[in-house]
Amino acid sequence: MEHNDFKNKILLDLHCHLDGSFSPEFIKKATGDSRDLTILNKLLSAPDNCSSLTEYLTCFDLPIKALQTKENITSGVLDVLSKAHNDGMKYIELRFAPSCSMEEGLSLPEIYEAAITGSKLGFEKYGIYSNIILCAMRHHDTSTNMKILDTMYDYVGHGICALDLAGDESMFPNQDFTDLFKKAKAMNIPFTIHSGECGSVENVRLAMEFGARRIGHGIALIKDASLMEDIKNMRIGLELCPVSNFQTKAWTDYATYPLRNFLDKGLLATINTDNRTVSQTSMARELSLASSKLNITKRDYLTMNKNSVEVSFADDNLKHKLLNIIESNSI
Ligand SMILES: [Zn+2]
Repeated sequence: MEHNDFKNKILLDLHCHLDGSFSPEFIKKATGDSRDLTILNKLLSAPDNCSSLTEYLTCFDLPIKALQTKENITSGVLDVLSKAHNDGMKYIELRFAPSCSMEEGLSLPEIYEAAITGSKLGFEKYGIYSNIILCAMRHHDTSTNMKILDTMYDYVGHGICALDLAGDESMFPNQDFTDLFKKAKAMNIPFTIHSGECGSVENVRLAMEFGARRIGHGIALIKDASLMEDIKNMRIGLELCPVSNFQTKAWTDYATYPLRNFLDKGLLATINTDNRTVSQTSMARELSLASSKLNITKRDYLTMNKNSVEVSFADDNLKHKLLNIIESNSI
């Protein structure tokens, strides 16, 4: 394995889309697709010279088709946890959009429970801790997104850990979601928001003002030194996903990729995979890229591991366990 040197260095993945991380074996079984695994793997992965985010998003068609039954949601979570475990992860937060799993009549609570069951089975089988983040979608109407908030409350802290907002950031900016996050804040539901992935520093500012505990990607933040200072002082986490960012052309120049700068300034930056299958990545591959092109050194691993624990949505008890694992790992 070419990335083996980087295995077991970063132990947490806070930004991983369930539907972008399935194995072709799972998809074949879940959808009954008769095509062979090589073809399915190709359909699930974006090319390295992916022309746009739109091309990237077509890779989610088959996974969405798979996620329409409770059994498939549970086994899908287990599939990705198996892969994350093999990649050395001790804790992962998996996210997906529950509203996209209702085409065959599942209710939102049924979807949450099926995902939580997968998460528990993953711990029993692989010893990997996990939590589920629910994504509201930018192109869905307000009432669909509000329904997630209304139904998730009882599950928060019991397998579901937070709300997210995903989808096309340039077409549907954060200001359109002010009411959603006002309500999430009033309900005390923690959230992260994909913001500043495709250039908008204004979306990062709004996410902070809404009360986001973390920012998904957040690379546009590099444009605004005073906002960086605010994000640092408020101890807001930054979920960077380098392989995905270069693949979608969200960033094109290795030398100026913001991870190095964020770490040097003491921001709570973390490194994550985004979509393990769509981007054909793993934490080992992220670190291989980070070390060869982004000036990330071994000394940064401990910082990034600790940042991830601090900004994770795990409860204090689990955070404590994860810190112990990190400390014994780095000796
Ligand atoms: Zn993402």
